[in-house]
Amino acid sequence: MKTLKDYAEDINKCSKCGLCQSVCPVYKETGNDCAVSRGKFVMLDGVLKGDLKLDKTINKYLDLCLKCGKCKEFCPSDIDVCRIFETAKYEYVKKTFWGKIVWMLESKYIFGCIIKVLGRVQKLLNNSRNSNKIAACSKALPAQRPLKLIYFKGCVNNVYPKVENALKKVLSNYDVELIEKDFECCGLPFLSSGNIERFEQVKEYNLSLLDETYDYILTDCASCEDTLRDYGLHKVINIADFIAQNPKKFIFKKPVKITFHKPCHLKDINFLSQILKMCENAEYIEMDGFDDCCGFAGEFALKNNEISRAIGKKKARNILKTDADYVLSLCPSCTLGLHQGFIANGNFKHPKIKNLIEFLALADEIN
Ligand code: SF4
Ligand code: SF4
Repeated sequence: MKTLKDYAEDINKCSKCGLCQSVCPVYKETGNDCAVSRGKFVMLDGVLKGDLKLDKTINKYLDLCLKCGKCKEFCPSDIDVCRIFETAKYEYVKKTFWGKIVWMLESKYIFGCIIKVLGRVQKLLNNSRNSNKIAACSKALPAQRPLKLIYFKGCVNNVYPKVENALKKVLSNYDVELIEKDFECCGLPFLSSGNIERFEQVKEYNLSLLDETYDYILTDCASCEDTLRDYGLHKVINIADFIAQNPKKFIFKKPVKITFHKPCHLKDINFLSQILKMCENAEYIEMDGFDDCCGFAGEFALKNNEISRAIGKKKARNILKTDADYVLSLCPSCTLGLHQGFIANGNFKHPKIKNLIEFLALADEIN
């Protein structure tokens, strides 16, 4: 595992150009230079030189980050910003009592068991869940074999499988074999809390389950997708890209208006124009700042709630301007962020918030 010292050269690559300020949602909201990567690098450089202590003040600024990666995308020095913050966080948290408590709660035995128990309760309550494998569609060409998809369903589906059920409903119209495995969390929340050891543990475990041939690892969450790519996996696809590459017709009897919020961890939304062409009676209205962060990012919303709500409010206002019936996304954390934004903005009545695949599953006909 790399230490903060190992990143000294990368930290020094920061030219203080300030380009990250123009994209950082937290900087835009607070105007605080310590919120953005440039300011954080100045502090971490001070730590490495022995001028500053890696203490709770610096940790507070490390937490003042959505891990959205927007600064990394724009940084001309190509610095792996988030990895450096995670490493600094790890070095701080491992020295603290509360940090050790949080890491204990994140262990396989506690965090893993909670997810498993909640999942089992959910299964008992919902006996009508779809079977593990989706049968090959009868319209399949005889010479073709079904696409073999390993479904990485993520923690939220393990507890509350609303999106999973929608995905299975849509995929029942495709010639695919959907394989489920006993994956753990992708590990992103552990990186946020600086628990790099736990991240490495779940990564190793999840990779060990990929012991058969497959065409794709399928996700319905942009953050899981991004983290799986971070494992070094290449055949990872999100459900929206999959649909875009495998066209069907989604017929809505009544006209509906939709808008789309791009999660920060989603690499692009090229799928959207393709999917819109497949949807009969659905009108798309692009919102201003469709790729602006929703401000949630799990732990960030807990630790910096006022800023998180302020970022969410702006998003809510942009969504409302579209007058859409549905605001779609591709990440359960964004779903919570959008809810938070509407509530913070005082909109208890607002467009329905759904994962894109949930919306497609609402179609009256899929063929
Ligand atoms: S964009 Fe990159 S090089 Fe420029 S100030 Fe931000 S972190 Fe430093
Ligand atoms: S990852 Fe996002 S929130 Fe964090 S410093 Fe970079 S742009 Fe700002």
